[in-house]
Amino acid sequence: MDQAMLSVVRAVEAGATTMKGVIDATGLSRLKIERALNALEKQKLLVRDGQGFRGTGPTRTTQPARECGSCNACCDILEVAAVDKPVNQLCGHWQADTGCTIYERRPQMCRSFVCAWLQGHLDDDWFPAKSGIVVHFSQDAVNVTVDDHCRDRWREEPYLSKLAEWSLNGISRIGNRGYATLVVSGADRFLLLGRTVVPEPTLFGTAFLPLTAETFRFWRAKSPEHLQRLHERIAEIERIRQEFGSCAIPENEDDDPQAPYRPALLRQSNHA
Ligand code: SF4
Ligand code: SF4
Repeated sequence: MDQAMLSVVRAVEAGATTMKGVIDATGLSRLKIERALNALEKQKLLVRDGQGFRGTGPTRTTQPARECGSCNACCDILEVAAVDKPVNQLCGHWQADTGCTIYERRPQMCRSFVCAWLQGHLDDDWFPAKSGIVVHFSQDAVNVTVDDHCRDRWREEPYLSKLAEWSLNGISRIGNRGYATLVVSGADRFLLLGRTVVPEPTLFGTAFLPLTAETFRFWRAKSPEHLQRLHERIAEIERIRQEFGSCAIPENEDDDPQAPYRPALLRQSNHA
């Protein structure tokens, strides 16, 4: 949860129920508040209805339902650029008997960080000190960072099923402010599409097409233009599926015929 989201939640918990009330309480711009409200709604921490805004559940920001206890996973697993702390290396400011030795002047990221387990979104199998997995939400993503000592833990159960479930929720909301489910494990990065794992997704985006309820065929875009062509091809595949009941799906990620795709796809599908 970033600082704007935290401020908005605190304002709502303190009784603000309207945009004006939240602006007055936080001093944030309308745009920042709108973004924070959308992210909080997505995470089911806040609802908006005819009565205004209200938080859901207990007051998690001021009184987390859980305590970090013996966990220091975020001071170990996550990157904290403000203190030159790389990913998967215990912060130099951490000491076993004292904890954070610069607690009063720790960076903003450390002050505002609350992982999904601490927020109460995950059961105790996910306690970061035990699972080696730190999950946190940002505005457009569920971020999953995995301890170097158990790099493939996220592929095991019960973790993968939960991540696949979140990923499917995020995908189904695309066009309605969807979110991505991203895993960082050592030097490797993955995008989850349900149970389909996309290794090293590109910055330009990933186009995808459902194969089953939980699996996808995907193509990683090499440029914005490539992404657009991929989306055009996927739209054509969907139209052919609707028209003929099925359509061949190109096997190869590099199999990227130029538009118009219909003749090539129909030839592959033997519908011609
Ligand atoms: S990873 Fe979560 S539970 Fe562990 S110390 Fe950080 S915020 Fe607390
Ligand atoms: S500065 Fe303190 S809170 Fe932040 S990562 Fe280091 S030890 Fe943890």
